[in-house]
This record gives sequence, C-alpha cells and structure tokens, in this order.
Amino acid sequence: MVIDCGTGSHGLGQALIAEGVTRGCLLISHTHWDHIQGLPFFAPLFNPTNTWDICGPKGLSGSLRETLAGQMESTYFPVALESLGATIRYWDLLQGSFQVDDIRVTTHHLNHPALTLAYRLEVDGATIVYACDHELYTQGAADGKARLDGPDLRHAQFATGADLLIHDAQYVAAEYPAKINWGHSTIEYAMAVAREAGVAQLALTHHDPLRTDDQLDVLLEGARATMRESDSCINVFAAMEGQTLEVTHAPESIPATPIAETARHSVDEAERSSQTVLLALHDADVAALFGNAISADPSIRSVNISNVDQVKTAVANTRLSLAILDHDAKHDAFAMCRAIAEARAGDRRRMPIIVVADGEFPGGEQAGIAEWVVRPFSSTYVEAKIAAWVHRGTSRWKKAAMPANEAKRLTKLGEMALLDTPPDPRFDRVTRLASRLFAVPIVLVSLVDRDRDWFKSSVGLELVQTSRESSFSAHTVFEGRTLVVNDALVDDRFAENPLVVGEPRVRFYAGAPLIMQDGSCIGSLCLLDTRPRWFAASDVQVLEDLRDIAVSELEPDQQAAKPVLRKQKSSLR
Ligand SMILES: [Zn+2]
Ligand SMILES: [Zn+2]
Repeated sequence: MVIDCGTGSHGLGQALIAEGVTRGCLLISHTHWDHIQGLPFFAPLFNPTNTWDICGPKGLSGSLRETLAGQMESTYFPVALESLGATIRYWDLLQGSFQVDDIRVTTHHLNHPALTLAYRLEVDGATIVYACDHELYTQGAADGKARLDGPDLRHAQFATGADLLIHDAQYVAAEYPAKINWGHSTIEYAMAVAREAGVAQLALTHHDPLRTDDQLDVLLEGARATMRESDSCINVFAAMEGQTLEVTHAPESIPATPIAETARHSVDEAERSSQTVLLALHDADVAALFGNAISADPSIRSVNISNVDQVKTAVANTRLSLAILDHDAKHDAFAMCRAIAEARAGDRRRMPIIVVADGEFPGGEQAGIAEWVVRPFSSTYVEAKIAAWVHRGTSRWKKAAMPANEAKRLTKLGEMALLDTPPDPRFDRVTRLASRLFAVPIVLVSLVDRDRDWFKSSVGLELVQTSRESSFSAHTVFEGRTLVVNDALVDDRFAENPLVVGEPRVRFYAGAPLIMQDGSCIGSLCLLDTRPRWFAASDVQVLEDLRDIAVSELEPDQQAAKPVLRKQKSSLR
C-alpha cells in the first residue's frame, strides 16, 4: 500500500520492482501536484504483469482517473495514462470504510483547498493514520494550547488510539497568521491533535520547503520539550526521505489525558523537581553501582527496600518515577512486580520497572517489566540509562545480547591474534573500496572483543574502539546476519546510544557479520553514515560480497565455508 505519489515514488517504484512486488494499492489524498507528480515515473505501473488499484477522493469535476490523465497529456509527458502497461483499477472514494486484503481503510475529509482525504489503516491490531494537507478549522487552535473542540475535535477523534499519526505540520504557530487559508497546519496543532487522540507516535510532515534540516531539528527539539512539559510520552519526530518505521500496536498505550489533568501535573514543580526511584537490589556490587549513579544526579532520590512486604508502604508514601529490581534464584522480580501493581492499583502515572538479571526471562512484558538490564554493565551505562528511565519512561538504547557461543567466539578471536595489531593493507583496501562504492563517510572492520569493539581497519573515524555496550556491531554479532539500521534515531535499540546522541552522530548502520569456518562470529564489516539512508537488497548483496573478501583474508582457506555464509538471511529494518 502506497500513500500519495510525490517525486519520491520514483525510487520507491524501483525498490518495489527489485523486490518482485507485482501488485499494490495506491491511496491518493488529493490531486495537488506535490502528491501525484511522481505517478508518471512510478515504474510498477508500466509492467504488464502488475496489477494496481488507485484510490482517491471523488472530485467535484471529473473522476480521479480523468484528473490523473490530465497531467500525462502529451504536452506534459510522452506516455498517456491509458498506455501504462499494468492492469490499473481506479476507485473514487467518499467518506467511509473499505477493505484491501487484510487492511481496513477508513477515510475522512480534511480541511484543504482541494478535496482531500485522511486515511486510517488498521492491520494486525496496529493503526496508522495519515492526515496530510490539512488546515486547522478554528484559528485559536493554531498554538495547540486550548482544548480542541468542534470540527478540530472530530478531526482528532479520527486518529484516536493510532500507533502512528502522520500529520501536516508545515508551519509554526507564529507563522500561521500570515498563512491562513493556505491549507496547512502548525506543529503545535499537530501535537494537540496527537495528544487528544492519544496516539503513540507522531510524525510531523509536509515540512515547509524553505526550511533547512537544521531548522527542522530545532523545531523538533522544541516540540519534544513541549511534549515532556505536558507529561506526554508521545514520540514526536520529523518524517524524512527514506525513513523506515516498524509499527506495532502498543497495548499499554495511555488514553488521551484531559487538558485539565495535564495542567495540574505540569504546575506541580515540587513533584517534578525531585524524582524518586525504588531500589530493591540484593547484590552488593549492583546496588553500589546504581546507588552511585543515582547520587550523581541531584534531581533523583532513592528508596531502598529488600522484600515484597515493604512494597506497599514505599508505594503509598512516595510518588515513584521508576523501580529497579533484581531477579535471580533467590529473588523473584515477578513477585515484586505483582506486589507493585497491586499497591499502585488505579494509579495511571508512569512508573517503569527495570530488572537486573543474568539474562532476559519470558513473561517480562506481561509482568510490566519495561526493560531487562543484563550483566555485565558499566557505570556509564547505568548512569545514562537511569537518566532516560526517570525522565522519559523507557530508555531507547539497548546493548546487544550475548551470543550463545560467546566463550568459543572469544577463544577464536584470541587465537587469531588480530586485536591491537597495526593497520593491514589487506583490510584497508576493503574499507576504502566500500567507502567509495556506497559513498558513506565511515567504514569499519570491527572486531567485537569481550567488552569493547576494536577496529582492525577504519575509514573516516578517529576512534580506535568503542565500548561493547554502545557497539552496533555487537548486535550484528548476536544476530549472526546482516543488520541494517536505516535511521538510528527512530530505532529503540539505538536512538539514545552515545554514538548516536554524541559524536560521531551515527544515523545509518549496515553491518555484515564476519563468520569464521568454525561458526564463530568475530565482528563485522560495517558502513556508517551521519544521515539516514535507504539500503536496497542489492546493496546488502554487495556489502556481503566485500565481507566475503575480508573473511577470505582472515582465513585464507575460507572458500569451503562460503555456501554456508550465502545462506545467512539479511534482516532489513
Ligand atoms: Zn495540497
Ligand atoms: Zn501537499
């Protein structure tokens, strides 16, 4: 399913063909040029073996088909709409619902100079709402401060409970008085709609074309600060070219909070200025590590308990922001979670539960556990995590899990005697070549050691190593297959990784595992960029070819193992 068909659909069409997609459904919001100009260049429509449905609002004059044919008249384009090779069916839509395979599509009119539809897509329990080219109905709603009502409220209700709302946000409230009746919304209004609708994620889009990326980043920071001030946990981001998002239904997503209640919370400075963390940690070293991390932040206090019986008193006496428990043979974190849930019954304020353990145990999510912290970890890691949990609920930085064959893998890496050796032209050739082929600024041959990621060869990076906790390649080693992260900022495993939020500000990662003949994965050949990127299946293939060259340098008689490597499936996210 493709929504709207601007110029970006050229690249999308090529990607769909490369993936062998032969049928699809194109939903057009309206026929302004920026939403249909890519249609004549959307290659899947030219292939006679393809079948596409094109749906759009029923126009006041002429059908959708006639309008689309207009921009392909011979004055403008060499191929007429009738000559497109694919079997194409056109559907003129009104407000209502229909089904496309397993996707439920519902439409709703927007406020725009042309007849425009918003789309609500529901599939597998997840909901995406696309509401682009929409202007707020009442001018007072531009700054997003007042509670929405009338048609603005009905507009928000169309997005109720969406897991992702993609919304027009062309202007900011200060610019709006000069843009009335231009057909677009303000960022502040889009956020008010998202809050009213209780959505999980808000993608701001239809960015003003005069704005630079840097200006957008500044606006986004402001938007996020506003969300934090209103105690909202909606993830706001600015949509961008080539971005990939995984949308799953968040069953615990909180219903919209009435404005009055939000206001009451935001003025309660006394509560905000001091956050309290409940600690139930039995291992002395772990308790000391967390205790030190908490005392390093003057805005956080802690309450220590040692058993289930003390939960009730602790919960009753303090407004807790976070609970950190441990789980081992002697201490049952699940029992502790049940006691906490019972003691907090009816309290809807956010309080994530974090559990320290030697591994992740099943049933954590149902028990209300937001995150497992798996030993070992450093004090830096704990400090960064606590700050994120306390201030935002969950941390968006995960260290990679340990591979099952970790001991064997480390032995193999040790035997190869590569760590801390000088640069080697055999590997430098591969990284230089990769940097040139993919036009990425950073390429590494990374070797994942016990607690660090050391670079045997690198292009474009001053660092010689990073911690294993922050290593992207540690994830590739665990997965044992090629890992592609199109945009680290929207990936919960990497968004708050120190290499993403700090230098070198990684946004894109693609790493192919270095797997030795004995099955040990010792690291990766990886590409990094400071901008998000789209990475096609054919790119994965080239990266894996280069990886095979690196592997054959690592183990000169690797040839025999190649067929096994070829079978590794790639994970594209
Ligand atoms: Zn428009
Ligand atoms: Zn538009």
